[in-house]
Amino acid sequence: MTKSTRVASILTHDDTYPFGAVVPPIYQTSLFTFESFEEMEDSFRSLGLDGHPMYSRGNNPSVQVFEHKVAALEGGEAARAFSSGMAAISTAILARCQAGSRVLCVECVYPDAFKFFTQLAPRYGITVEFVDGRDLNAIQTALPGATLLYLENPTSMVFRLQDLSAIANMARAHGVYTIIDNSWATPLYQRPIEHGIDMVVHSASKYLGGHSDTVAGIAIGTHADIEKINRLEYSVLGGKLSPFEGWLLLRGLRTLNLRLEAHQKSALEIAGKLERHEKVAKVNCPGLKGFAQADLAKKLGGITGLMSFELNADREGIKRFINSLEYFKLGVSWGGHESLVFPIALGLLNRGALNPYDYFGIPENTVRIHVGLEDVNDLWSDLETALGRI
Ligand SMILES: *Cc1c(COP(=O)(O)O)cnc(C)c1O
Repeated sequence: MTKSTRVASILTHDDTYPFGAVVPPIYQTSLFTFESFEEMEDSFRSLGLDGHPMYSRGNNPSVQVFEHKVAALEGGEAARAFSSGMAAISTAILARCQAGSRVLCVECVYPDAFKFFTQLAPRYGITVEFVDGRDLNAIQTALPGATLLYLENPTSMVFRLQDLSAIANMARAHGVYTIIDNSWATPLYQRPIEHGIDMVVHSASKYLGGHSDTVAGIAIGTHADIEKINRLEYSVLGGKLSPFEGWLLLRGLRTLNLRLEAHQKSALEIAGKLERHEKVAKVNCPGLKGFAQADLAKKLGGITGLMSFELNADREGIKRFINSLEYFKLGVSWGGHESLVFPIALGLLNRGALNPYDYFGIPENTVRIHVGLEDVNDLWSDLETALGRI
């Protein structure tokens, strides 16, 4: 699928909605009823992703439209939406593991995925080993005997890239299932299934939704793999998405292409200016020419608004920088219209082996920003003023 057909597939649909409505209705109902014994019998027999809706913990049409669109965008056969990115991630992982499973996970992974692997999974006899996702030899060495390899490309704190095709080939050769968090790139800039990755997960709270008004997740894969999750882990863990949120996500999806282009344009300008600023020691942004993994970065269809950089500052300097910002609001999430800043120094408050930033050695002077849709000149003058107060 070319990029323009992908964008078209967000905007068009094969379904017809009542009265020719251009936007699907919100099926705000928990329950769907049947005319007869036989009709309900049919539904029970075919109960699955595409079956006649019966109960909204199973299928709801407002959610199914969203699932179909994201599955098509990712080049997957099917998708299942969840009440959060973490619900999608934890459910997808649990569906592949059992007591005794060994999971490989790339370093610098999203903090709550780290917490899942290091604190929850061990209680069920699942062990984790972290590998440097940039090091193909390290991955090759760790693969034999593993059940699952969990990726995030790029990692969303320090933006390390993985060679997806090479890794997918090695994992396949060892019968290791691969799951990737694609929240940052979105299917417009990276389609992991085309590289041979088995399952894609998203925090739809970020770019897919794009308006900071919904927490949601989605998993995409083959029909068989999603159906397997659907029949057991999804249905018994129950992390379903609400119909209204499915509808909100569809609304967000319609402008994904336009939003990403705008984020990227401003982000590139800001990354370049940060790189040349004396108070900035290093910029972690795959769009920069001097990016350490520039060759792998070329495989991305684009960059988005999320990046990080290291300040030439001590803790007091970081504090002055953060408190001087006006457009960049202090907050943890990203992917919406608004510009945000998050100092890793705050993430490091409770240090130790259970703290992901500490565990992965992310420097305390690292600051992550999300470049929003505001005027880029305003954003840069905000950053420049704050850098001047360090
Ligand atoms: C936010 C985030 C998640 C978790 O998603 P929620 O929707 O908050 O549960 C997972 N991965 C990445 C990279 C994220 O930024």
